[in-house]
Amino acid sequence: MNILVTGGAGYIGSHLVDRLLSVGHQVTVVDDLSVGKMANLQRHLSDKRFRFIEGSILYPTMMDELMKDCQLVYHLAAVVGVKYYVEDPLKVIATNVRGTEVVLELAALHNCRVVLASTSEIYGKSSQIPFSEDGLRVLGPTWVHRWSYATSKALDEHLAFAYARRGLQVTVIRYFNSYGPRLDPRGYGSVVAKFIIQALQNQPFTVHGDGQQTRCFTYIEDSVEGTLLAGGEEKAIGEVFNIGNSQETSIQELAELVKELTGSESSTLHLPYQEVYGPGFEDPPRRVPDTSKANILLGFQAKVPLREGLEKTIAWFRSRQ
Ligand code: UDP
Repeated sequence: MNILVTGGAGYIGSHLVDRLLSVGHQVTVVDDLSVGKMANLQRHLSDKRFRFIEGSILYPTMMDELMKDCQLVYHLAAVVGVKYYVEDPLKVIATNVRGTEVVLELAALHNCRVVLASTSEIYGKSSQIPFSEDGLRVLGPTWVHRWSYATSKALDEHLAFAYARRGLQVTVIRYFNSYGPRLDPRGYGSVVAKFIIQALQNQPFTVHGDGQQTRCFTYIEDSVEGTLLAGGEEKAIGEVFNIGNSQETSIQELAELVKELTGSESSTLHLPYQEVYGPGFEDPPRRVPDTSKANILLGFQAKVPLREGLEKTIAWFRSRQ
C-alpha cells in the first residue's frame, strides 16, 4: 500500500514508519520537524520505498499532492506535550484543528482511509474509571490552557465522525501515555523521559503534587501495534479505540521504579503544580483505559510490562549519553 504518515519523524510516528516499511509498504512521511527529528528516520533514507517531505500539514496544496495517490493516512502530526499546551495554546489549537481539517478534507476527496491519532487526555478529569470510549469527558474551564489540547483533539474526533457520515473511512485511536526509545530527550511532555534523564544525571525526581496521580504507561511497541490494527482491520472503520496498557502506576511509584532500574541516587523533590505550570493548573488524578473494545474488535492487547519497557527505554537513553 501507499501510506502517508503525518508527523512521521516524531516519537510514535517514526516507530510506526519502521513497522510499515518492514512489512513492505511504500511510506511517505510529512513532518515540519518542529519536534520530530531526521535522526529518527535516518536508517530509511536510502530505502526506495521511503520518501520524506519536510513541510507543514497546514499547507493544503502540498498535502493535496501527497494524498492524491495514497490509500491510507496515519495522521499523527500534532502539538503534543503538557508544557506546550500551557505555553502556546494557540499553536496547539491551530495545528491540531486546522491541520486535521486539511487531512480529513483531502482524504475524503481522494478516497483515502484515515487513522486519526487522538488521546486519553480527552477524558480529562472523569472519575468513570476505567475510561471507556463511550464514557464521559470531564474538562475544566476554558481559561485553563491545559484543556486546549483535549478540546482540540475532541474537535478533531468530531470532524472525523462528521466526515465518516459522508463516507470517509476513518478510525480514531486514543493513546494512553506512550513511552519508549526516541522520547524527546529533553523530557518535554513525558514524565518517563524526564525521570530517566534525572536518574541518569543523579538529579532529584521532580514529582508534581503528592505523586499519587496515576497513569497507564504504554510501551511503544504496543502503541504501534494498536495503531497498525486500527489501520488494517475492516471492523475498525468508523470506530474509536483506547490504545493503552491497563497497568495503573502512580507517579511516585514510577520514580521509585526508574530509580531502582537505573541504580540512581536521585532523591525526590515534590513540586507544587502551580510552581511548574502556573496558577490554576489542573491534572487528571487517574487515567486508566478500558481496552475491551480494542481487544474484542481488533485483537489488541498491550503486552509489555512497565518494568521491561522501562529497561529498554533506559538502555536507549544510556546509549545516547
Ligand atoms: N509529572 C511529574 N514530574 C515531571 C513531569 C510530569 O510529576 O517532571 C507528572 C504530571 O504532573 C502528570 C504525570 O506526571 O501528573 C504525567 O505527566 P506527562 O507530562 O507525562 O503527561 P500527561 O499524562 O499529564 O499528559
